[in-house]
Amino acid sequence: MADTLIKGADVVLTMDNQRRELHGADLLLRDGVIADIGHDLTAERAAVFRAKGKIVTPGLVNTHHHLYQTLTRAVPGAQDALLFGWLQRLYPIWSRFGPEEMYVSAQVGLAELALSGCTLTSDHLYLYPGGARLDDTIAAARDVGLRFHATRGAMSIGESKGGLPPDALVEDERAILEDSIRVIDSFHDPREGAMVRVGVAPCSPFSVTRDLMRDAALLARDKGVMMHTHLAENDEDIAYSLEMFGCRPGQYAEDLGWTGDDVWHAHCVKLDGAEIDLFARSRTGVAHCPCSNCRLGSGIAPVRQMRDAGVRVGLGVDGSASNDIGNLVAEARQAMLLQRVQNGADAMSAREALEIATRGGADVLGRDDCGQLAIGKRADIAIWDAATVENAGSWDPAALLLAGPMKVDALFVEGRQIVSDGRMVTIDLPKVISRQNFLAQGLADA
Ligand SMILES: [Zn+2]
Repeated sequence: MADTLIKGADVVLTMDNQRRELHGADLLLRDGVIADIGHDLTAERAAVFRAKGKIVTPGLVNTHHHLYQTLTRAVPGAQDALLFGWLQRLYPIWSRFGPEEMYVSAQVGLAELALSGCTLTSDHLYLYPGGARLDDTIAAARDVGLRFHATRGAMSIGESKGGLPPDALVEDERAILEDSIRVIDSFHDPREGAMVRVGVAPCSPFSVTRDLMRDAALLARDKGVMMHTHLAENDEDIAYSLEMFGCRPGQYAEDLGWTGDDVWHAHCVKLDGAEIDLFARSRTGVAHCPCSNCRLGSGIAPVRQMRDAGVRVGLGVDGSASNDIGNLVAEARQAMLLQRVQNGADAMSAREALEIATRGGADVLGRDDCGQLAIGKRADIAIWDAATVENAGSWDPAALLLAGPMKVDALFVEGRQIVSDGRMVTIDLPKVISRQNFLAQGLADA
């Protein structure tokens, strides 16, 4: 691939260790990494991207999603339900999915993320109806061109055993572990610059047994992969934990090996002070999903307290059935606003929220090769137009989350341009959308 020289950006928000903000600077992308940053760079035969009038940031990192849910946005009956009722409305619809639904819905979700500045996303796929496999979403990420941290989710406690999901959507625990081994061996790339990694991710403590939680942790550590689940999402979740396990979610997680720098938990809206200390001490990560938490009325996660205590926090758009959009820059803005609702106007700056959305997320996913613009880091770059209606009149273009566009102008992943002039260049998005709508109609008619 030819080198790319990004030339003369109005401002480059590096998110490097000094949090430098460079004006009129250039970046040279070579062999998937940032080869140089500075002023008046030259490179023979490089493709030149003229960045005057643009704001350059690291690509945003999404730490929690259920891509398949883009096929069930704004479903009547689930629009205004609390978490458990919402799940019960959607499970029967999801049980009619198959490989094509997984592939197309993932393409839609990944393109939506890319257009909002995201270069690296995780996905939590915890149901496998109709022959669907994790492979379907990995294929979608390869075709869209995003860096991908797939997680092999699972549910094993169906209705007949007192669980929430219908029996048809749950799997045998031995089969779950075997397929987890298969997908790790087939797709996980531990190397720096990896485009695909795989993690192990039982859906939540209330959808699998204690044994599977423990075995999944042992498997993940044996294979050297990360672990992910939902934790402490709302008051119902805490009540369930106290009643069924006799302890709070933090204790449950710790007892089963679910703390550590190779673990990240989604939501954590209801962590108490002791649990925040536990997460900080153990270097356990959090995927904060503010829009989903608002949408489901779950509450405001104590992100200010977590950050102050040293907990690693990234952002997640969460599944599209609970957001229902998957725009990561909008998510970052929401994160900033919610902390202000809770703690006052000086509780989180636009720059800090962008930091959480970039290097914060990369840190949570164990990717110290991503999330910042520095020499030697991966060439994952979001470029924003500084002359949109949203930032016209802005005195501080770098305060992107106070006044800035909600879509990128251009996006590079591993040095490859996948968004140009605000459009996907890797896939025929209108065609994918039309297929998605056809599949959604089929699910609605069934
Ligand atoms: Zn989720």
